Amino acid sequence: MKTIIGLIYGGKSAEHEVSLSTAYEVMQAIDYAKFDVLPIYITIQGEWCQGEKRTTPFEHKESLRFDSKGKADSIQQIIANGLAFDLAFPVLHGTNGEDGTVQGLFEVLNIPYVGNGVLASSAGMDKVSMKQLFEIAGLAQVPYVHFVRPDWEQNRAEVIEKAEKELPYPMFVKPANLGSSVGISKADDRAQLEEAIELALRFDRKIVIEEGVTAREIEMGVLGNDYPEFSVPGEIKPIAAFYDYEAKYQDDSTELVIPAEVSEEVKSKMTEMARGAYRVLDCAGLVRADFFVTANDEVYINEVNTMPGFTKTSMFPLLWQNTGMTYPEIIERLIELAMERHTAKQ
Ligand code: ATP
Ligand code: MG
Ligand code: MG
Ligand code: MG
Repeated sequence: MKTIIGLIYGGKSAEHEVSLSTAYEVMQAIDYAKFDVLPIYITIQGEWCQGEKRTTPFEHKESLRFDSKGKADSIQQIIANGLAFDLAFPVLHGTNGEDGTVQGLFEVLNIPYVGNGVLASSAGMDKVSMKQLFEIAGLAQVPYVHFVRPDWEQNRAEVIEKAEKELPYPMFVKPANLGSSVGISKADDRAQLEEAIELALRFDRKIVIEEGVTAREIEMGVLGNDYPEFSVPGEIKPIAAFYDYEAKYQDDSTELVIPAEVSEEVKSKMTEMARGAYRVLDCAGLVRADFFVTANDEVYINEVNTMPGFTKTSMFPLLWQNTGMTYPEIIERLIELAMERHTAKQ
């Protein structure tokens, strides 16, 4: 009997489109001699739509965007009908997918699922919680402050004052719970800071403000459960002011240099920091760890992404390809790791 993979994608998230691209590529790479795929599309409104079981990939990305046609139009119905898959492969980014919520659902249903568990997903999604855990693990990171919407509503001046007291310009303002650079901007002065905060608050009630660093951006892939393995490092060279949403997905303005040219010392520093992050968040399956490396080789961890972008041109699979693993091999390894973790829990 072939294992049926429930490929869950889309989602009520600002990263809906990215998820669709990832799902399309994953579907192309699955070994259909071993697996069937049950596509489950979550619309941007959050409606779960179960498709027909596939023994071949969809031919076009747009075909992934189907509606339920009355078959199963809610998660409740999909569950009530008896789950038609053996293993969940959520390729959801951001809210309601990468943040531990859907992982909690799989835990309750007692089915194996690819990727990180509840704690790592939720802590990794919230940049403030993540930074606090990194601090506990003794990982170097850039100085930051954080606040929530009511702080801003009640006393804007105080928020600005705190940021300016703690951090020099330029600053980076980010919604705490997002990815793909959505809602992030760089502020060079107070007027821009206020604007950046207003923008970030459109996406989240919790905001992080960081000191902007002049540094190279270098990332590392991690794969594994209790014994994680580390990819070669890869560098992002954005031509834009920073690695924003457009640079990530909509243009060719970014060059990826893999492996990154770094000293052995920097590489091992990064590996140990990625290991520390993996451990403190209790990660499983995979993460992509993002670092800043300054001209004098200081290394700061920026974040880990518990469900990194995963198209064929995304950093995570490219890092592993350079480490000696093909795209289909990564997919299969992730499925293996999901099974292994599920069995270990029993
Ligand atoms: P993703 O999950 O897609 O990697 P994200 O939305 O979680 O992105 P970050 O990785 O934190 O966001 O930031 C996005 C980009 O903004 C970084 O890749 C970098 O180019 C720039 N950036 C973020 N923080 C800083 C900082 N403190 N100093 C300088 N540049 C920064
Ligand atoms: Mg991120
Ligand atoms: Mg992300
Ligand atoms: Mg990042």
